[in-house]
This record gives sequence, structure tokens and C-alpha cells, in this order.
Amino acid sequence: MDVYGIIGNPVEHSLSPPLHQAAFDERGIDAKFVTFEADEDRIEEAFRGAEALGIDGLTVTLPFKHDAYDFVDPEESVERVGAVNTIDFTDDGPVGYNTDMTGTLRAFEHHDVGLDGADAVVVGAGGAARALAFGFEEAGADVSIVNRTESKAHDLAAEVPGASGHGLDALTDLMAGADVVANATSVGLESDESVAPADAWHDDCVAFDAVYKPLETRFLSDAAAAGAQTIDGAWMLLFQGVDAFEIWTGVDAPVDVMNEALRSHL
Ligand code: NAP
Repeated sequence: MDVYGIIGNPVEHSLSPPLHQAAFDERGIDAKFVTFEADEDRIEEAFRGAEALGIDGLTVTLPFKHDAYDFVDPEESVERVGAVNTIDFTDDGPVGYNTDMTGTLRAFEHHDVGLDGADAVVVGAGGAARALAFGFEEAGADVSIVNRTESKAHDLAAEVPGASGHGLDALTDLMAGADVVANATSVGLESDESVAPADAWHDDCVAFDAVYKPLETRFLSDAAAAGAQTIDGAWMLLFQGVDAFEIWTGVDAPVDVMNEALRSHL
């Protein structure tokens, strides 16, 4: 039997086990997906131990996405974003990927939203915003990064080719000309708030929210009320898992089955 898992702290409420187990079962792959809550002071040992034990693949979540960088041979997405969320233990050693970035692009493709030449506004400058900003840029979008702490928006924009950084006070003006507006802040997480002013939405844009609890956030409901297309945060979560599954197994992921498994646990 193959063994895969998620490593993080905490991981007890992770949705990765049902997401991946559904895929292994659907494809008839004899594999078990488990959770590993690692000690923060012993993460290096945990990664080496996983390799020594012959674990086949790991999803890496907070707070270890940066620690994992030093342990893997980084694939291109990792070099860009500077964080690892997927490790494939190959015969040549552990290879690191960032499927938060590549999976988000697949989520947009799945919704037939083209990003090439789009004006994309990313709100936030933390881990999720990094994945979105680098992903949108790679897909050919012009990226504006807006953050409450404006200096962090400038810092991130300096790393993403062609991007600009702004404070939250610029958001309304940027939204007026935007094709895509993405929330990568934690605003709206288990609360009925939005980082974007309700009256700034228009029907000629796509709203994406990284937050998936609740699925229909205030950010998305305001956008929908103005006639905008919406993509909820579960699509990002789904497709980072879809990409990881395909990297590990080389088998096409059963996207519909994984989507159903994920949404039944939300
Ligand atoms: P993070 O690194 O801690 O960054 C948090 C961001 O939110 C920062 O830009 C912060 O701004 C901003 N923020 C927090 N409170 C704010 C407020 N009251 N007003 C305005 N901005 C505020 O977090 P993260 O890892 O990027 O995660 C962000 C969200 O994305 C979380 O809800 C997380 O669950 C979600 N996420 C979803 C997925 C998915 O697969 N769907 C993947 C990753 C993350 P400052 O810099 O000013 O503090």
C-alpha cells in the first residue's frame, strides 16, 4: 500500500484526507492518505523521517510551507512563489511543487476565465496572495496588489514582474478597471465582512475568494449582486489537490469525485 499525507500543525480539521482518499479509491489505487501533526521544532527531522519511512507524497500546510523549501529540489512554481505545498518523494529525492499557484490557474481554466491580458487585482500580501499574484502574472495578467499594510504590497509587487503595489484606499479605483478581483486576505473567514466596498463591483469582472468558510462570502455575494461571475475558494483547494494527485500518481484526477468529496465536508 502507498502512503500519502498532509503535514502541518494543526491538521486535525484538514480537508485533504477526504479529498485525496476519494481520488485514490475512485482510481483503484491502493493508497492511504493520513494526517501528520509535526512538532514545529522538529520539522527537519519530520521531513527526513517521512523520506526514510518511504512515504510516497506529502501535502505541506501551515506553518511548514517555507521550511519545506530547504528540503526539496524545487520545481519552477516553488522557485517563483518561495513556498512548497506538495512534495513528491521520487527515486532521485524529494521534489517540491507549489500547487496553490498552479491549481488556482486550473480553477480559472475550469471556469473558462482567461487571464492573458487581464487586469487582475489581488487583495492581500500573505501566503495565498503570493500564490495568486505569481500565478496570475505567469498566466499573462497585469497584476495590482492591494494590502492593508501597504509596504507589504510594495514588497510583493517588487518580486512579481510588472506588478504594482497599493494600499487599501486604492481598491475602489482599481476595481473599476479590473477584469479579475481576488480576495487573498482572511477577511470574511467565518464572518460576514468583505475587504471590497460593495458598490465598487461591476458586471464585467470575475470575483475570486480564497476564503472557503463560508463558501459564499460577503465578498462573493456583493460581486454576484452586481452581476459579476464568482469563483469560490473551494475551487482553489480542489485544484491544488488535483494537481498534487496527478504529480504523485501520473494518473488523471477524478475531478468531479474530488469536488463532491470536498464540498460534502465543507
Ligand atoms: P496570511 O499570510 O496570514 O495573510 C493574511 C492577509 O490578510 C494579509 O495580507 C493581511 O494584511 C490581510 N488581512 C488580515 N486581516 C485584515 C483586515 N481586517 N483587513 C484587511 N486585510 C486584512 O494568510 P494566508 O495564508 O495568505 O491566507 C489568507 C486567506 O486565504 C485565509 O482565509 C486562508 O484560509 C485562505 N487560503 C485559502 C486557500 C485555498 O485553497 N482556498 C489556500 C491558502 C489560503 P496585513 O498584511 O495588513 O496584515
